[in-house]
Amino acid sequence: MLTGPVGATDMIGVRRLRRALRVAENEALAAAAQGDPVIVGDPSPEPARSATTEKESARPAPTEEEPAQPATTEADDEEARQPMLPFGMRSSDEMLIAALRDERELALLEPHVAAPAERVAKLLKVAREAARKSQTAEEVLWDVWQASGLSDRWTSTSLAGGPRGAQADRDLDGVVSLFDYAAKFVDRLPKAGIEVFLDDLVAQEIPATSLAAQAPDGEAVRILTAHRSKGLEWDVVVVAGVQEGVWPDLRLRGSLLGTETLVEVSDGSPLDGTDAVKAALGSKMLSEERRLFYVAATRARRKLVVTAVGGEDAEERPSRFLSELMPGELETATVDDRARWLSMPALVADLRATVCDPSRPEPLRRAAARHLARLAEANIPGADPKTWYALTELSDDRPLAWPDDIVSISPSAVENFTKCSLRWVLETAVGAGSASVSQSLGTIIHAIAVLAAEDNPVDALNSRLDDIWHELDFGGLWFNRKQRHVAEQMVERFLRWHAENPRELIAPEEAFTAVVSENVIIKGRVDRVERDGEGRAVIIDIKTGSSKPKDDELNRHPQLGVYQLATLLGAFKRHGLVEPGGAALVQLGKAAGKDAKEQRQGALSDDAEPGWAEDLVTTVAAGMSSQLFVAKVNDGCRTCAAKISCPVNDSGGQVC
Ligand code: SF4
Repeated sequence: MLTGPVGATDMIGVRRLRRALRVAENEALAAAAQGDPVIVGDPSPEPARSATTEKESARPAPTEEEPAQPATTEADDEEARQPMLPFGMRSSDEMLIAALRDERELALLEPHVAAPAERVAKLLKVAREAARKSQTAEEVLWDVWQASGLSDRWTSTSLAGGPRGAQADRDLDGVVSLFDYAAKFVDRLPKAGIEVFLDDLVAQEIPATSLAAQAPDGEAVRILTAHRSKGLEWDVVVVAGVQEGVWPDLRLRGSLLGTETLVEVSDGSPLDGTDAVKAALGSKMLSEERRLFYVAATRARRKLVVTAVGGEDAEERPSRFLSELMPGELETATVDDRARWLSMPALVADLRATVCDPSRPEPLRRAAARHLARLAEANIPGADPKTWYALTELSDDRPLAWPDDIVSISPSAVENFTKCSLRWVLETAVGAGSASVSQSLGTIIHAIAVLAAEDNPVDALNSRLDDIWHELDFGGLWFNRKQRHVAEQMVERFLRWHAENPRELIAPEEAFTAVVSENVIIKGRVDRVERDGEGRAVIIDIKTGSSKPKDDELNRHPQLGVYQLATLLGAFKRHGLVEPGGAALVQLGKAAGKDAKEQRQGALSDDAEPGWAEDLVTTVAAGMSSQLFVAKVNDGCRTCAAKISCPVNDSGGQVC
C-alpha cells in the first residue's frame, strides 16, 4: 500500500521510513531510560507540525521541561497522550505495521518521511471504523474510496490522456469492477461482514467478474476490427492504415494442427505443395481480404474516410484496395518529416523543445512559452516547468546510509555494485529488477543440488523436480518442456561434477555473517562449503546462466574474493574452517558445455595482493552508503531492467 497509489512512495521512501521509525524508537528508549516521560502522538495541529524544521523534528520526544501542547482535536488526542511504554526492540517490519495501524507512531518523524504512511494509516482507520459500524462490504469500500481522494486524481489524469491517462483508465476500471463485485456479494450475502468479503476475494483463483468490452454509451467513437463491425452501421466510419501488406495480408495463416488443409482435402483438393495449389490458395485469401475490406467500407451511412501512407522513398505503399475503391480519385497530402503526432504529449514535447532551444527565433520561443503556460493552467501533464526533471531540484541529496549505520553487504551485491553502481541502487534499493524465469530456474536447480549432495538417487531428484516444476510459469507448454530438458541436463552435469569432486562437502546452502569493520558486515549464503586436502575452506558458487567470466578475470572475481574474505574473518569457524583455500564458480548452464565447468580462484594467501578483497569490500561499502551512483557500461547493459532510467542509454537520458 505504501508504494501503491495511496502511499505513493517508492522503495527508498519505505526504507527511509523504516530507518526513521528505528531512530525515533531508539531516541524514545533513550529518553525513557533517563526517566523522561515519553509521549506518543502529535498533539499539535497539522500546520504547526509541517512548519517544523528538520532539526526540530528529529529531536527526542517532548520532555517535562518541554511539555506537549494541549490537545486540540477530538477524542483521539486523549489517546495520543497515552504513554507508549514499555518499549521493546521491535523489528522494522513490526514498527512499520504498528505505524500503519496507529499514525501516532509517526508523530516524531519528519513530515515528508511520514506522509506516505500517514495517508495509508488514515485510510486503514476509515476502513476499520466503517467495519466497526457493521457496514456492508460495499459501504466500507465506498467510505475508503471517498476518503482516498483517488477519484478526482485519477479522473483528471484519465482526462489528460497519454500513457498515464490510460493507466488511470485501467485503475478506474479496476475500481468499478471491485464495486460491481461488492454489490453482487452484498446481494448474495447481505449479512456477511467485510471479513467474509475479503476471504471471498482472496479465495478467488479466477476473477469472478471481468470488464468485457461493452458498447459505449451515447456519443462516442468505437474502435473495432473489421470482423467485429459486421452487421453494424455508423454515420461516419474511418478505415485507417489501409497499407499494402496489411490489407490484404496474404501471409499463409495455418493453424497448428492444419485443420484447414484437412477441410481442403476432404473437399477433393490435391494434397501437395505445387505452385498451382499455392496460387489458388493466395487468390482465395485475396478474395477473402477484399470481402473484409468491403465489409468495413460499407459500414458508413454518410461518410467514409480511408487512410494510407506511402512515398517514393518509403517502403510503405497504399493498398491496392484503395485504388479499386476510388480509381484515380485519391486525395493526397504531403507530410513533413518533422510533423508531429496529433497527440497532447507530442504537442507539449514540441513546445518544450522550442522554448528550450536558444537557436530558435525569440518570438517563436515566447509564443511556445505562452502556449505552455495555457496548457499548464489546464493541468496538462508535462506543461508546467515545475515538473520538468531537468529543472527540478534534487528532492534529497543526503547519502543513502547515515554515518553510524551498519552497512550490510552480500557477496553478489559487491559484484553487482562493482559492475554498475547505478543499476545496483535502482534494482536493490528501488526494486527496478524483476524475477525472470531463468532466475526461478536457477533457484530450482540450487534446491535440487542440495538434494543431490545428500546422495539422493536420480529418480528421487526427478520426482522432486516434478513436484516443484509447476510453480514456474514458462508462458507456453513447448517452452516449459524445453526448459525442463535444460533443467535435467543441469542436474546431470551437477551429479557428474559432484561425483568427481575430490573435496569434502562440509555444508550446503550455508548462511554466514562476517564482520569487516565497525560499520561493515558481509552477510549472505553460500551454495557449498567444502574442505580441501589441506584442511582449508573452498567456497563453491553454483551458476546456471549462459555467460561466464573469462579465465583471466577469475583472480579478481569480486564474489569469490568476498567469500574468501568472509572465510578469513571467521564466517565458517563453526566448521573449523578459518583459512581460505580458494573459491570456485561451478557452471551448470549453457556456459558449461557438455560437462560442468569449475572456474577456480586461488587462495587469497597465494595472491600477490592478499588484501585486495578487503579493500574492495571497504570501497564498495563506502560507495553503497554515498549519495552518488555512477552508470558504468558493462556486458549486462543489454538486459538491465534499469536502462530506461540510465543516462548512458538513449531512452534513459535526461530531457528538458
Ligand atoms: Fe548500468 Fe548499463 Fe544498466 Fe545503465 S544500462 S544502469 S550503465 S547496467
